[in-house]
Amino acid sequence: MAMDSELLVRKIRDGTVIDHIPAGNALNVIRILGLPRGRENRMALIMYTSSSKMGLKDIVKVEGLELTADEVNMIALIAPTATINIVRDYKVVRKERVKIPEIIENIIRCANPNCISNQDRETAIPKFRLVSEDPIILRCEYCERHTYKEDILRQFMEGR
Ligand SMILES: [Zn+2]
Repeated sequence: MAMDSELLVRKIRDGTVIDHIPAGNALNVIRILGLPRGRENRMALIMYTSSSKMGLKDIVKVEGLELTADEVNMIALIAPTATINIVRDYKVVRKERVKIPEIIENIIRCANPNCISNQDRETAIPKFRLVSEDPIILRCEYCERHTYKEDILRQFMEGR
């Protein structure tokens, strides 16, 4: 057990630790981020480890990576409990919990092919309102079509 926890807490020098990912979702998180990207972004993936808060959780540690705001929002959509820890020189310098925005713009498409946001993206950028966090439900601001976690995952996977 001691060895086990030593392995899990080994520190990265500079980069990002995405903690408190709902167990089983780490692979989705790394796919969204387009990881692995090679030796510049050495990474560790820890799945189904115990968490006092969550029972079980996943953790992704990536060296040399800083997430964009869009990437953080994408993670929030599939791992709403996740915390993002920015590490510099082996120390956590910033820690924040992801938050699904009330309005989600431009990172996913509407599932309705006839929606104006799919017909004329110049004037109607995809825009959704958060209806429910758990399970996640988003509503298109134009046609009111609902989008669910499976739709979101499918789109994120297609785009990579
Ligand atoms: Zn729509």
